[in-house]
Amino acid sequence: MFLKAVVVFFCVFGFVRSYEAKTALIVVDVQNCFLYGGTLAVGHGNEVIAVINNIRSHYDKLIALTVFTQDWHCWNHVSFASQHSGKKDYDVINLTYNDKGELCTSNDPRCVVKYNISQTLWPDHCVINTTDAKISANMSIQQGDVIVQKGYHCQVDSYSGFYDNGGFSHTEMNDVLKKNGITQVLVTGLALDFCVYYTSKDAKKLGYDTFFILDATRPVFESNVKNVTADLLSKGVHVINSTDIGDYIRASATRDIGDYIRASATRASSFTALVTVFVYFCI
Ligand SMILES: [Zn+2]
Repeated sequence: MFLKAVVVFFCVFGFVRSYEAKTALIVVDVQNCFLYGGTLAVGHGNEVIAVINNIRSHYDKLIALTVFTQDWHCWNHVSFASQHSGKKDYDVINLTYNDKGELCTSNDPRCVVKYNISQTLWPDHCVINTTDAKISANMSIQQGDVIVQKGYHCQVDSYSGFYDNGGFSHTEMNDVLKKNGITQVLVTGLALDFCVYYTSKDAKKLGYDTFFILDATRPVFESNVKNVTADLLSKGVHVINSTDIGDYIRASATRDIGDYIRASATRASSFTALVTVFVYFCI
């Protein structure tokens, strides 16, 4: 009888464990370029550093993986206003691409346009191998953390940590999360209305339970905050503050387990259930 109890305990324990949510913290672009004194400083951007470091230390046991993204641009990147004559910072232009995702330039009339992408023009920022592009020395980067670079294709911008803005190429972010068994992500960093927003949208689209941590991000344009949060909520992204992370992560894990057990209970032929019963009666 004791042996049977032990077997059932481990079957149930392993079964429940396998459906626990596994969480990653994504820290978007907390680099010198986006901080005070940087080439594209986000207003109050430095305030996110303490919030994010606090999330790391406070929820250390709940966060299985931390991924930093790093904006990493060619010196002549297409998103820089300096590359477009007659244009200035923050102008919005239309970029055109052919079916291979190659930029159509005005001096190539043979280029057949397949995609149109609206592009905000930025000051030159986060250029590859510069001090400006380094992740802030005040961020707590630890052993086992992963850095994912983006924006290094010179002819297309990349707000999301997963894909460039045209969806022509992807980073290693999704592979890294999948390899680590991650099911939910906490998205933080800079800037709220661009890279944090796009990273959150793509994470949700890829099936991750996504938490947009409002007090761990700051916008380029304050006027965008309302629309960004409304859009994320409409897509099923949770918009929360860092003080509530513990409640949400635990609640979410419990809900996932509950859903699975309920679903499994309705499937009498569930392989796991059969194996458990078989083991139980054969000992
Ligand atoms: Zn950039």
